[in-house]
Amino acid sequence: PLVLGIESSCDETGVGIVRGTSLLTNTVSSSMDEHVRFGGVIPEIASRAHLDAFVPTLDQALADAGVTLDDVDAIAVTSGPGLAGALMVGVCTAKALAVATGKPLYAINHLVAHVGVGLLDDRASGRKQELPENLGALLVSGGHTEILRIKSITGDVELLGSTIDDAAGEAYDKVARILGLGYPGGPAIDKMARNGNPKAIRFPRGLTQPKYMGTADEPGPHRYDWSFSGLKTAVARCVEQFEARGEELPVADIAAAFQEAVVDVISSKAVLACREQGIKDVLLGGGVAANSRLRELTGQRCASAGIRLHVPPLDLCTDNGAMVAALGAQLVMAGVEPSGIGFAPDSSMPVTSVSLPA
Ligand code: ATP
Ligand code: MG
Ligand code: FE
Repeated sequence: PLVLGIESSCDETGVGIVRGTSLLTNTVSSSMDEHVRFGGVIPEIASRAHLDAFVPTLDQALADAGVTLDDVDAIAVTSGPGLAGALMVGVCTAKALAVATGKPLYAINHLVAHVGVGLLDDRASGRKQELPENLGALLVSGGHTEILRIKSITGDVELLGSTIDDAAGEAYDKVARILGLGYPGGPAIDKMARNGNPKAIRFPRGLTQPKYMGTADEPGPHRYDWSFSGLKTAVARCVEQFEARGEELPVADIAAAFQEAVVDVISSKAVLACREQGIKDVLLGGGVAANSRLRELTGQRCASAGIRLHVPPLDLCTDNGAMVAALGAQLVMAGVEPSGIGFAPDSSMPVTSVSLPA
């Protein structure tokens, strides 16, 4: 099926078009530049930017794919989770298109779509992806840090663990601000960390104490969960101490040590969850998947545990419409009923809900 996917959960306006598991186009317009001077995404600005960007982005996507709206078999749209106002713009656009064209509409989960993108054929070789039934998904972004078990991408998704406070990307952005590295913080810290010594300072690894971890037989309350707010506070305190002593701030060392703490605990808990849950394949997704050290350490730890790590191309890891189209196509191919046009966006749509029922 030819499926058009629409994404607007945060600051990316995305329109993607797929045919089955083959990607035809992935057109993205980001309002990131408009948020830079505020040091974070401003929901109102993001919503207005979506409104401006949708029609041009859609036109561009159709032109790139060489198809018309008539050719499309189904439309898929992110209905949550995400910023309420931003979601509303994409959902209204998708509903209008569905009404005007009479095409079926699927309201889908943004987080599951981050996994669905991993099912698209390899772009260079056209090879089909072979992902097993019992797939792990490690999603690390500005809004989420979660480990999932995907038994079926079209309807059986289980949350194994998640952050109990800040998302990893959010921690990067906050720490970058403390270090004066600007926004978005992820790429800035990643780059700065290359010149630093990750062992110069030892920052805390959240929720790794025995009272949280328990044992494999008697798991503690947060065995597969993460926490990054204590780490952020530890970095702030460290910076204060250097300033109080009047010493020059070792920015590269702090960045490297912070990054090591984040990446260490994300990769170790993800691998632990996979080992204990009998998961042999794990897919890495979300914007923080761009992080060089996260890919490296997770790759090493997966390899030594006999787990295969799948990392989609970077432009498909950050928010985009292709991932929405990819999941939409899976739903169509599995014969799942479309959602109709009566649904509302849900800013806290649970990951166990893959698409909304009619
Ligand atoms: P959502 O959480 O809903 O998926 P989002 O827009 O916040 O939305 P993404 O666009 O997937 O998520 O990712 C953006 C985040 O990724 C930002 O927090 C950014 O700092 C982080 N990021 C991007 N590149 C890197 C990198 N190289 N290292 C670490 N973090 C990075
Ligand atoms: Mg984004
Ligand atoms: Fe996302």
